[in-house]
Amino acid sequence: MSSDCLFCKIANGTIPANKLYEDDELLAFWDINPQAPKHFLVIPKKHLTGPGAVTSKEAGLVGSLIAKAGELARQQGIGDGFRLVLNNGIEAGQTVFHLHLHVLGGRALGWPPG
Ligand code: 5GP
Ligand code: ZN
Repeated sequence: MSSDCLFCKIANGTIPANKLYEDDELLAFWDINPQAPKHFLVIPKKHLTGPGAVTSKEAGLVGSLIAKAGELARQQGIGDGFRLVLNNGIEAGQTVFHLHLHVLGGRALGWPPG
């Protein structure tokens, strides 16, 4: 837990979020500023600053993160067309420095991304 981290505060319940899923390791909640009809975030409760901070030590956790994202996408009816996004660093658009996997779907998604 990092005391000034927004997503640590959501993970520990200090700040509310519209949750879809929670277990001991992971939390999924709807993005406050959705970029697609379905847009939610899946985070590890453990504080990691972003995908660039992931090491082989977190391989199992990151595997669980992706597996849960797919499972929730299927549950939300977007299993046949969704995008997973991990932004790393300001230049890539990262604004919250706690690892979070975006899950976007419910519309056609263009490529390349902006
Ligand atoms: P990033 O730009 O770091 O990849 O993504 C951060 C995401 O977190 C953004 O899509 C933003 O809308 C979302 N976000 C920021 N603050 C909050 C909040 O307080 N609650 C929720 N649910 N989402 C947030
Ligand atoms: Zn954090």
